[in-house]
Amino acid sequence: MQKPNLIIFGAPGSGKGTRSAVLAEILEIPQIATGDIFRSNIKNMTPLGVKVKSYMDKGELVPDETVVEMVSERLSHPDCKNGFILDGFPRTLSQAEALDKILKGLGKPISAVINLVISDEEIVRRVSGRLVCPTCQATYHKTMNPPKNPDICDKCATPLASRPDDAPETVLKRLEVFKSSTLPILKHYEAMGVVEMVPSEISSAGLKADMEALVKRLGFKAAK
Ligand code: ADP
Ligand code: ZN
Repeated sequence: MQKPNLIIFGAPGSGKGTRSAVLAEILEIPQIATGDIFRSNIKNMTPLGVKVKSYMDKGELVPDETVVEMVSERLSHPDCKNGFILDGFPRTLSQAEALDKILKGLGKPISAVINLVISDEEIVRRVSGRLVCPTCQATYHKTMNPPKNPDICDKCATPLASRPDDAPETVLKRLEVFKSSTLPILKHYEAMGVVEMVPSEISSAGLKADMEALVKRLGFKAAK
């Protein structure tokens, strides 16, 4: 049987992280979020963190080689045996091609690319107001998804912060990079017949129910 080897795809602010976290919980598979891994390396001032910080601060892409090496290593961990969700990777055609090779070597074909569809106006609205927990990476929005106590993480009580790259000029830069470098790779996956369109709005049933329905539609079963 096919494993849920998933890619979640969408513009900055389309809700990749929120959805991946829920999907990972439902399917009991790891969420591999390249942006989160970089942010945690920056926080801990590791050599990788030092290397990627200036790119991230400017809203530019980290060099392909660096990201590919990191993801390749991560996908070889035993917790990926029942599937995984790649969140924020691949972002260039060269990353997508490198991923094809890595997955071929591991015998893990991509089962679906979940394409979150969102308008530019909505991106700007969502990203301005976004709050992130520096400890557990949970995300909130000042008005659309506020924490129970203002500016405090519901899950681990850490004071929330804004992402430095969510500043308006940087968001526009990230959007431009998304359109020029990342959006075109959808064609690569369309040719493979694995793209699943998903609206970026949450239905009245709620995020969890939406993701459970998506799991079913993709032909997978919840772990519990
Ligand atoms: P978003 O999708 O909202 O822009 P991410 O957390 O996925 O946020 O990414 C934040 C930043 O991390 C990017 O702007 C880029 O600098 C870096 N980054 C993350 N993933 C990649 C990747 N696959 N390739 C290159 N850079 C990446
Ligand atoms: Zn937290």
